[in-house]
Amino acid sequence: MVRHALLRSRSPPSWPAAGSAAPAAAVAARASTSPPPLSPPPRRPGRRSMASAGAGSGGRGRGRVRIAVVGDVHNDWTLDEDSKALHSLQPDLVLFTGDYGNENVQLVKSISDLQLPKAAILGNHDCWHTHQFSEKKVDRVRLQLESLGEQHVGYKCLDFPTIKLSVVGGRPFSCGGNRIFRPKLLSKCYGVNDMAESAKKIYDAAANAPEEHAIILLAHNGPTGLGSRMDDICGRDWVAGGGDHGDPDLEQAISDLQREIGVSIPLVVFGHMHKSLAYGRGLRKMIAFGANQTIYLNGAVVPRVKYAQQSMYSSTVSTSEQTGVVEGLGLMVPTSRAFTIVDLFDGKVEKISEVWVTVGDARTELEDELVLYKQPREHI
Ligand SMILES: [Zn+2]
Repeated sequence: MVRHALLRSRSPPSWPAAGSAAPAAAVAARASTSPPPLSPPPRRPGRRSMASAGAGSGGRGRGRVRIAVVGDVHNDWTLDEDSKALHSLQPDLVLFTGDYGNENVQLVKSISDLQLPKAAILGNHDCWHTHQFSEKKVDRVRLQLESLGEQHVGYKCLDFPTIKLSVVGGRPFSCGGNRIFRPKLLSKCYGVNDMAESAKKIYDAAANAPEEHAIILLAHNGPTGLGSRMDDICGRDWVAGGGDHGDPDLEQAISDLQREIGVSIPLVVFGHMHKSLAYGRGLRKMIAFGANQTIYLNGAVVPRVKYAQQSMYSSTVSTSEQTGVVEGLGLMVPTSRAFTIVDLFDGKVEKISEVWVTVGDARTELEDELVLYKQPREHI
């Protein structure tokens, strides 16, 4: 069963740290629907850890974790301004859902320069022109993957020991639906040739996370099974009648993981299906509730940058889209930047909000907060 909730509230004047009054030493717990294995599973060569995770917690209690989601970027990313905004939000971890541009290598490099613990996945727009790897030249998909390095989590598990979380990636390049997008790339890069192999690859990555870690799944598109109305979290909005445009391999992997080894998956994060529906049909539901207390979050607030006071300048001067600097004056046009913030406690989601942060020359401040979920559910 899927439930949705939406509550709008005005933001407080400042954004408090998630764990300002948190008890210390909470541990993420693994559900035990099946007997634990007698010995830990062997470590896969692809498993890595990120010792620096948690650097942004600023004294927060260990059980409290804040995740900032940067939804589909579509060229709306400026390292300086987004860094200011993100640091003001004090996340322990930043997740990127993909579609940075149409193979925008420079922008992906800039994301890899962000000085916060992070994980990312490539979307369908990140292989917009490249259908398969060339033996003769280095293509832009490869350059993006090289830029992100270990932080690209497609079919992999990235451990963040200090916050007791592991981020497991879904299928890279996903375009949603039953067909694999860019099959030659996927086969060459990951040895995956169909949905069943893809589901197994996600499963294997997640099954290898440390037992005491909660698992966050990060994919470009969400799973099937969350509704088929146009405004559902993965609903097809460009054809009359809608339809479920989720990834079947992701649903299969989540279902198998929960049934067979009882891992705790408090959160599945993705993008691809934009919040604004096609043809002005309204807004998408960006959150859904699934079995086993898993919350599904679509972070694709697109466009994610608004030029807050552009009208002040627009009649007399032009503004660079990439830098936000008013040409000739050297002034930064204040921008509003969208993020989705997830607060967890003890490995469980407490609150999810879409936030808009204003970044200008002299100030960085929370402008608006749209609360999508707050525990307990009865209160929303
Ligand atoms: Zn996409």
